Amino acid sequence: MSFEKLNLIKPLNKALSEEGYTKPTPIQMQAIPFILERKDLLGCAQTGTGKTAAFAVPILQILYNEKNASKPKSAISTLILTPTRELAIQISESFSAYGKYTGLHNAVVFGGVPQKRQTDKLRSGVDILVATPGRLLDLMNQNYISLQHIKLFVLDEADRMLDMGFIHDVKKIIAKLPVKRQSLFFSATMPQEIVKLANTILTDPVKIEVTPESPTVEAIKQGVYFVSKPDKKALLIHLLKNESINSALVFTRTKHGADMVTKFLNSAKIHAEAIHGNKSQNARQNALNNFKSKKTRVLVATDIAARGIDVEELSHVINYEIPNISETYVHRIGRTGRAGLSGTALSFCDHEERAYLKDINKLISVSIPVIEDHPFPMKKEDENFHQQSSESSSGQSSASVIRGSNFTTDKNKKRWNGRNKQKGKNNRYGRNKARTN
Ligand code: AMP
Repeated sequence: MSFEKLNLIKPLNKALSEEGYTKPTPIQMQAIPFILERKDLLGCAQTGTGKTAAFAVPILQILYNEKNASKPKSAISTLILTPTRELAIQISESFSAYGKYTGLHNAVVFGGVPQKRQTDKLRSGVDILVATPGRLLDLMNQNYISLQHIKLFVLDEADRMLDMGFIHDVKKIIAKLPVKRQSLFFSATMPQEIVKLANTILTDPVKIEVTPESPTVEAIKQGVYFVSKPDKKALLIHLLKNESINSALVFTRTKHGADMVTKFLNSAKIHAEAIHGNKSQNARQNALNNFKSKKTRVLVATDIAARGIDVEELSHVINYEIPNISETYVHRIGRTGRAGLSGTALSFCDHEERAYLKDINKLISVSIPVIEDHPFPMKKEDENFHQQSSESSSGQSSASVIRGSNFTTDKNKKRWNGRNKQKGKNNRYGRNKARTN
């Protein structure tokens, strides 16, 4: 199905084709017609599915078609609430790209930077506002922003709002929205509290769910190293000395951990930058830009900072620490293997992380292959753990244990040996399955 079938207006078709989008993704195919029919929507989808265009494109079309309807120049008619600054910036950039021939204006507001530039932009007249909750409330309290003309509201990454403790702020903002409006609600997961929140926001919503065929993308090769905690540093340096790792996103559980890893990598002459909530917005954006432009080979990130980061041709995700929430593992490894490219996700599992690994194996219904051939095998005292974990993984009798070159299937050997130069962006969404509930 092409975008033409979605009956989009010319200015949008033109911009989308300039973006190189030839086919709508499953979520776009399903969501766009309903949003254009002015229905409320409950979308269960994660970043990487094309979710942003799924709401941005029809919103631009609706606003474009109603452009001449009388409204004050400064009135904001669409609000997108999203949890992180990086996502807010990305969404705003998407609106600018898709809407470049519509004459519609968007602005983005988020905390951690002075507000002057944001308020100047707001004053110049904005149709679409992308915001994180804290800064939005701040600016509303200072009367820079009024929500009284909002007719379209998007709550993005609702589950992450909950995780980050923003739900209270979100509720305060929702209370200020006009009752008569169209609302779109997106969440990667739908825990009870999120369902309850959705029920308070949406009216008779259409439900759409887009899930990867299996939670772990097929194109991603996974492996786990059992390693004693003190040896993780040396193992990471050892792996990154291998030039075949073109770019690596290294995950830690904490901000402190991210700083620590960045420091020891730089001491080992491996250039790395960190991205996490304690860094200034500029430092985060610079680190991200350097990584995207391949100036920096290694970016060390916490989960929240990395949420939504879209880096083309990211070859490796390394879980320096295993996440304690299994779904986070899926989010993390989904950073690689994008755009139809293959990718590798490696995890370091120490004694204490055994339970987390077990949960992950259960969630993804496979035992992540164990890589035994490395210079820092688990210390003797921890070996029992290794054994037990292998046996209990994924309810199977044993984990797939991979030794040395067995880890590399013929297909993957080239990449593993550092000769992977895949190109092309096709088949990006081949892995997604969409269904309407
Ligand atoms: P999102 O899930 O919105 O973060 O989108 C993930 C990535 O997919 C972004 O880099 C988008 O530019 C890209 N994308 C979105 N829709 C399409 C499409 N129809 N064709 C190709 N790429 C797309």
